[in-house]
Amino acid sequence: MAQLDTREKLAILADAAKYDASCASSGTTKRDSRDGKGMGSSEGMGICHAYAPDGRCISLLKILLTNSCIFDCHYCINRKSSNVRRARFTAEEVVKLTLAFYKRNYIEGLFLSSGIIRSSNYTMEQLVEVARSLREDHDFRGYIHLKTIPDADPELVRQAGLHADRVSINVELPTEPGLKQLAPEKSAPQIEGAMRDMKGAIEDGRDAKRKYKSAPSFAPAGQSTQMIVGADAATDSDIVGKASTLYDRFGLRRVYYSAFSPIPDASAVLPLQRPPLMREHRLYQSDWLMRFYGFKPAEVQQAADPTGMLPLDIDPKLAWALKFREHFPVDVNRAGKEQLLRIPGLGTKAVDRIIRSRRFRRFTLDDVARLTVSIAKVRPFIVTADWRPTMLTDRADLRTMLAPKQKQLELFTG
Ligand code: SF4
Repeated sequence: MAQLDTREKLAILADAAKYDASCASSGTTKRDSRDGKGMGSSEGMGICHAYAPDGRCISLLKILLTNSCIFDCHYCINRKSSNVRRARFTAEEVVKLTLAFYKRNYIEGLFLSSGIIRSSNYTMEQLVEVARSLREDHDFRGYIHLKTIPDADPELVRQAGLHADRVSINVELPTEPGLKQLAPEKSAPQIEGAMRDMKGAIEDGRDAKRKYKSAPSFAPAGQSTQMIVGADAATDSDIVGKASTLYDRFGLRRVYYSAFSPIPDASAVLPLQRPPLMREHRLYQSDWLMRFYGFKPAEVQQAADPTGMLPLDIDPKLAWALKFREHFPVDVNRAGKEQLLRIPGLGTKAVDRIIRSRRFRRFTLDDVARLTVSIAKVRPFIVTADWRPTMLTDRADLRTMLAPKQKQLELFTG
């Protein structure tokens, strides 16, 4: 590996880390001021944003220890057979860099991952050493998110949890055939075994903390994972099913969905084009439906078309409501929270406000309109004090009426 200075290594290893979606801020245009014109850059690498357990948005130094890897996962730019420039930080260099950025107030924490160097255990030791040194040698109190390696020694993974706020183990692909095809050195049972151990250790840590105040914290921000979307033949229905299993079995805080992006020098088994970004967005919306709106995975899957794909032009909650019109209209002045949460266009905050306020007054259509960005989307599905949609939910062209006219990424409103 050529001798590189810290700046060059940072450029390579921060760029290589951008493919991990755990803190994604993609989709902006590229701008910079290196030609002396203007100020700032949207291409600067190394710092990304994530949400702390208390909901604050925090800045993290997001880097890899190295982009060299002895594995050959087809979808990964860092794979053994990839023709990219390689770099490697020592654990000490990452500690120094993190402290320097922290002292300058650029960051509030570190997100550290790595390609596999020599062996899984050796790599995990290096990752743990960074976190240990930051915490024990430098009393670092910022946020640390460590990627852990599923087949590393469980004791090393446990040590990662002692020093990190959040740990993550990437499931990578939603189905076992997909994993076999695209990441042949990885094994689904091994990944899930590591997640199970981590869940047990997190629960033990919480119990110990409840009993003894002095017990050390263990990954207080829990564990998360990432699934790559569109690199294999898995459908949205497969992905929703897998995510729900992961939440249920391993108590994950988050599943991140990362639309596969074609990489330079790509393997021939990969698709040539990335899936539409809207697909990733619809999967995040489905995830919200399961976590905050009381939808069962099978219900989200019912919103998919016969090929198992969610519609791209409308959100999955609206797709479900259009398919199961017999559940509507819902009377906003009488219905329970569970039914209110099913109404397309109404978010959880709007539902809470309806429930709080309707004890004192009856909601009209105008009242509901003040709680949503699109009353047109809500109107066919509700009854208010002054509105009842006569035959509206039966209209054959309701979908066309409600689908957004322009193709644009809408914000999730319910
Ligand atoms: S193990 Fe990780 S870094 Fe190595 S090729 Fe696979 S995905 Fe890339």
